This record gives sequence, C-alpha cells and structure tokens, in this order.
Amino acid sequence: MRYILLLGGNLGNVEKTMRDAIKRIALLGDVPLVSSVYESEPWGFEAENLFKNMAVELDTDLEPLSLLDELQRIEREMGRRHKTVNRQYQSRTIDIDILLCDCRVVDVERLAIPHKLMHLRRFALEPVAEYWADWQHPLLNKTIAELLEQLQ
Ligand code: AMP
Repeated sequence: MRYILLLGGNLGNVEKTMRDAIKRIALLGDVPLVSSVYESEPWGFEAENLFKNMAVELDTDLEPLSLLDELQRIEREMGRRHKTVNRQYQSRTIDIDILLCDCRVVDVERLAIPHKLMHLRRFALEPVAEYWADWQHPLLNKTIAELLEQLQ
C-alpha cells in the first residue's frame, strides 16, 4: 500500500528531528520520495518558532491501523524528553499524520484517511503537491493540485 504521511513540528531542531523520524519510518517499508521542507506561520495560537512540514511516501504492507500504531510509537519515542549533557531537558516533539492511502477510505474512531482537515490546510497540501499533485482525494474527487488551487 502507498501512503502519504505529513511530518511536522516547531520545537528544537525540527529538520533533524524529521530526518530522524524518516529513518524510523523507512524501517516500516520503502520510502521512495520525500518532499522539501516547507515553513509556515503558526495560526490559532502564539508560538515562537515557524512550523516546518514535510510529506513522505511510504510503501508498506502494514494495514492502516497497524501503521498508525507504529507511527504513534515513533512519535512517543521521539517526543520523549532527553537529558542533554548540560543536564537540561529538551523537548523534541514531532507530529506524524497519515494523509492519504491508495488502498481505501478509512473512517473509524482512531483514524480517518484521507485526513479530515488536509484539504483545508495549505501546510499539508503544499508539501504533497511537490511530488503527488495528481493524487486524487477519494472523497472530494479532486486532485491535490486542484485542492491547493481552491485555497488560493
Ligand atoms: P494529533 O495529536 O493532532 O496528531 O492527533 C492525533 C489523534 O488523531 C490520534 O488520536 C489519532 O488516533 C487521530 N487520527 C485520526 N485520523 C488520523 C490520521 N489520518 N493520521 C493520524 N492520526 C489520526
């Protein structure tokens, strides 16, 4: 199954954290394509740092709910507070969402694919449009490129 994942964060060295996360995600299958890093202003609340996002394709045999379990494990492992050499704690949070899957539509309590808000979020559509612009949203019957254009 082909999945498109969205990685994001705004704390610490986000790019390094996302690269580390991609290494862990690559253990779950093949990662043939990774988008550039996109920056966006946080909205809805005050935050010091810009948000950064990347889209990642994962090809894997994992079923959607098993994949969600694995991604949540990676989030937990990476979001854990590590003690640094100078004895300060450093948070390294990362958020990983499943945006799309070529297999089917999923809508259960723990998981909705396509992600329920992806079509409304520029920070999700922009990275996906880099390589997967022609991917069809199976519920809205529009491509990623068309959904992005709608926002503009
Ligand atoms: P958040 O902390 O904002 O990433 O939300 C995580 C929660 O959203 C988890 O409890 C998931 O079970 C749920 N969820 C629903 N759909 C998705 C999805 N497509 N990808 C990731 N998490 C999802």
